[in-house]
Amino acid sequence: MGWDEGSTKPELVTSTPGVSNVAASNVDVEGLDTVLWDQLPESVAICTAQGVCHYVNPAMERVFGSLGTELVGGVLWELYPDVLRQELQERFQRVAATGEPEEFEWHFMARERWFVLRLFRGHGRVYVFASENTAEKKQEAILRGLYDETRRAQRHAAFLAQASEVLASSLEHDEILQRLTFLAVPPLADGCIVDVPMPDGRVRRVAITHVRTELVERARAYHERYPIRLDALHGVGKVLRTGTTEFVPELRQDVAGGQARMEEVRRQAMMELGVTAYIIVPLMSRGRVLGALSLVNTEGGRRYTHADVRLAEDLARRAATSLDNGRLYTEAQEAVRARDSFLSVASHELNTPLTSLTLNVQALRRQLEASADKAPESVSNKVVAVQRQLSRLSSLVRELLDVSRITAGKLRLEREDMDLAALTRELLPRYAEELSRAGCALRLEAAETATGHWDKLRVEQVFQNLLSNAIKYGRGHPIDVRVGADSERAWLSVADGGMGIAQEAQPRLFQRFERLASERHYGGLGLGLWIVRQIVDAMDGRIHVRSAPGQGSTFTVELPRLPPAR
Ligand code: ADP
Repeated sequence: MGWDEGSTKPELVTSTPGVSNVAASNVDVEGLDTVLWDQLPESVAICTAQGVCHYVNPAMERVFGSLGTELVGGVLWELYPDVLRQELQERFQRVAATGEPEEFEWHFMARERWFVLRLFRGHGRVYVFASENTAEKKQEAILRGLYDETRRAQRHAAFLAQASEVLASSLEHDEILQRLTFLAVPPLADGCIVDVPMPDGRVRRVAITHVRTELVERARAYHERYPIRLDALHGVGKVLRTGTTEFVPELRQDVAGGQARMEEVRRQAMMELGVTAYIIVPLMSRGRVLGALSLVNTEGGRRYTHADVRLAEDLARRAATSLDNGRLYTEAQEAVRARDSFLSVASHELNTPLTSLTLNVQALRRQLEASADKAPESVSNKVVAVQRQLSRLSSLVRELLDVSRITAGKLRLEREDMDLAALTRELLPRYAEELSRAGCALRLEAAETATGHWDKLRVEQVFQNLLSNAIKYGRGHPIDVRVGADSERAWLSVADGGMGIAQEAQPRLFQRFERLASERHYGGLGLGLWIVRQIVDAMDGRIHVRSAPGQGSTFTVELPRLPPAR
C-alpha cells in the first residue's frame, strides 16, 4: 500500500490512462464538478456513505503515492495504515449516520508526520479532507522542547542556588555530606549515598538518605556485606578511582537477570535494593576525588537523562567546594590552636627565668646603692638600663601570658569598689620618666571621683596600654587624659597628637596580632589593644577610637558603674 512505500514512488497522477491529469480530474463525479478540488493543496476524497472512494484529488494521490485509480473504488479506511483504520472507520460511519462533521488529528508515528482529518456529509456522500501539519507540529515540538529546556534550566539554577546556600552553611565534613543527601532526596533521586575514600584504601559510607527509611538500614547492611573496592570495574569504586561519572538511565530486572556480563555486585544491588537507575558522580576538588555521590532510583517512577547527570555534577562540584572550604577552615583552626598552645608554653617558659632575673637585678641594684664603696657611675647606669629593658621584656611576656589566659577563657575578674579618677592620679607619676624621655607633656582633666565596681588591676592594665601607645605613637606631642562619670557610667580617654590612624584601618585595631605602624620603627606584638578590648568587654564596657592620619588619636573607654544583674 502507498503508505508503506511512501513518497519514494514516482508521483504519477493520471486518473485515466492516456488523458492528462487536469483533464482526467475535471470529471463530473455523480454530478459534481471536481475541477476546484483538483487544484486544492489539501487532500480530498469523496466517498459513498459506505466508505467507497468515488473521487480522490491529486493532492491525496501524492500523499499516498499511488495512482488515483487504485484509490478510487477502494474503501477509505482501508487505504490508511492499520493504526488509524479503526478510528477512521468509526468516525466515518458516525458522520455518515448523523451528519455531524468530525475533525481530528492523526500522528502517523512511523513516519513522524501529522495530519488533520475533517469529515463532512452532504448530498448523500461523505467528504474527507486531510491536510498535513507536520511542519507546524515539528516547530511546535522544537518550541516546546526549548521551553521545557528553559524551564528545566531555571529549575536547576534555582535548585543549585539553594544547594549552595545549604552546603555553605556548614564547614563540618560529614555534616556537609549529610546535607547533600537531604538536598538530593526526593528532588533528584529516591535514594542518595555519599562514599569517601580513606587513606587505608577502604571506602567509608558517610551519608545515606532514602525516601523509604527501611531502605537506609538495608543499604548500610549491604555495604558492610559488600564493601566497595577501589579496583571495581563499575560503580562507586570505579568512580572514586577514575573521577569519572557513571550513568545508567534504566536498569531493568529482566535485562540484569539475563545478562551474564553484569557484575555480580550491581546485580545484587538491584535485587536487594530495587535500584532501577542510577547516576554516580565524583566529588572533585583541585583534581582530587574527595568522594562519590550516588543518586539511585528505586521506585521506578523516574528515568535519568543527561540533564540530570549535568545537574548531579553541578551539585557535586558545589559540595566538593564546601568540603574544601571546610578542610581549609579546619586546617586554619588547627594552625591557630597550635599557635595558641605554642604561645602558652613559650610565655610560661619565658616568664620563669625572667621573674628570677628581674629579682636578681633588683637585688643587685639595691646592693650597689647600699654599698659603702660606690660603684662607678657607668656600672650603675648599666644596671638601670638592664632593669628598664627587663621591665619591657616582662611586659611583653605578660601580654603573651594574658593572651593565652584569655584565649583559654581564663580571664577572671576580681571586682571591687574603686575610683577611676583616683587610680589615674595615682598611676600618672609612674610614667613621668617615660613621658619626659618621649618629649610628651601630660595634661590630666579628671572629675573628683568616678567610682564603680571593677577589677582594679585590669583597669590599671587598660590605662597602661592606652597611655603607653599614646607615648609610643605620639612622641613629641602633648597627651590629654580625661576621666569623668555620670550616673550610669565612667569614662577614661587618652588623646595624643601623634601619627593617627586611617579610617579604614580602625576596625582592625582591636584584633589579635594586628599592627598598623611600621614594625621597624615601633616595637610591639600587636596584642595590647586586643587585650584592652577583652578586658573592657568582660566588664560590659566599650572602647572606641577617634582618629585621622597626622591628627592624633583619642581612645575612650566607657565602663558601666554597676555591673548588669545576671
Ligand atoms: P602594639 O604592640 O603594636 O602597639 P596594640 O595592640 O597596642 O599593639 O596596637 C595595635 C596597633 O594599633 C599598633 O601597631 C599601631 O599601629 C596602632 N595604634 C595603637 N595605638 C595607637 C595610637 N595611639 N596612635 C596611632 N596608632 C596606634
